Amino acid sequence: MNLSYILNELGEERDQYFNAIAPPVIQTSNFKFNTVADFRGALADEYQGNLYSRGFNPTIDILRKKLAALDGAEDALVFSSGIAAITVPILALLQSGDEVVCVENPYSWTIRLFKNFLPKFGIKTTFIDGTDLKELEAAISDSTKLIYLESPNTFSFDVQDLAAVAKIANARGILTMIDNSYCSPLYQQPIAYGIDLVAQSATKYLAGHSDVVAGVVTGKKEVLEKIFNNEYLNIGAALAPQNAWLILRGLRTLAIRLDKISETADQVIEYLNQHPKIERVLHPFHADNKDLALARKQMKKCGGLFSIVLKNSSLEKIETFCNSLQHILMAVSWGGYESLVMPACAGLSKAEFDPNNKRHVLIRVYVGLEDADYIIADLDQALASIPVF
Ligand SMILES: *Cc1c(COP(=O)(O)O)cnc(C)c1O
Repeated sequence: MNLSYILNELGEERDQYFNAIAPPVIQTSNFKFNTVADFRGALADEYQGNLYSRGFNPTIDILRKKLAALDGAEDALVFSSGIAAITVPILALLQSGDEVVCVENPYSWTIRLFKNFLPKFGIKTTFIDGTDLKELEAAISDSTKLIYLESPNTFSFDVQDLAAVAKIANARGILTMIDNSYCSPLYQQPIAYGIDLVAQSATKYLAGHSDVVAGVVTGKKEVLEKIFNNEYLNIGAALAPQNAWLILRGLRTLAIRLDKISETADQVIEYLNQHPKIERVLHPFHADNKDLALARKQMKKCGGLFSIVLKNSSLEKIETFCNSLQHILMAVSWGGYESLVMPACAGLSKAEFDPNNKRHVLIRVYVGLEDADYIIADLDQALASIPVF
């Protein structure tokens, strides 16, 4: 489907709402019925229509149609957060005694889901290095019901071979799910590689303005209907119509935002590559990535997220660098206008920090929509402030 058509027209029925160009926010909790027969029909099958906004709502429907089409999926469910879009489908599709094979170090709350939350319901997870297909196959047991991927990872940028993993899973009747927040559907299309469920934090690129928390999962209608009729309605992590509207507004500029961000990130990385105080840049398309060919094969571009490691990294150096930034903001999340940094050490106590741990020394950078020169100048003065030793 044509991208401009999806972003500007799909799901929008302007003649039904006064020919308004912008979609309406249908700010209602419930919908009326004219006959008991109609009401009974809606109660019996909520997936088919509007009954109550914990389920569906017309503003939500416009967004669902666009997000499904962007992923090349049959349907989409949207949620009040990205982590709900990951947690709710998993709770819906697994039961006690089932096992999950998951890549190492996915998003922090995804780790907690698999390590702390699912064991309460008797669901066990094996973590694997997703770049090693032999290890993946060895981790699969008769009870494995789900293989969970995050490619690229949003801190270390490891990638998994989506087509190969889907092939292994499909041959055994195992469901596959990916967190595609890094790429967005514009830069990676997991369903085309045979992945079953694609989750994203819509908080990031889709909404794109650091003002909404939201999530989406796409996949086959039959699977999403099962999720909707049970855990979706029961857990009640529905997206508010106003927030859906903000995402619809964000989507209009998704393509130009992402392309501009990618271009700027390339310029910033080029600057960092030659800087004497930078040890490493971690980025899927970086020459140092051992899986560069795979990343280039399955992803169109990368967007604005990458990590850096300072030379002779220490807590003092990392803190000096981050504290010295004048324009780039220190914060979690990414995907909005503003460039951000997030040092991994902020999530660790001083005693826990180990300068020899390759994850502890990472400083994640998100390049936003500011000019490359403006971002580079800020990085340059912050790097200059780091003591040399
Ligand atoms: C932010 C994020 C999430 C969680 O999304 P929320 O909208 O914050 O709930 C999940 N995965 C990745 C990769 C993320 O960056």
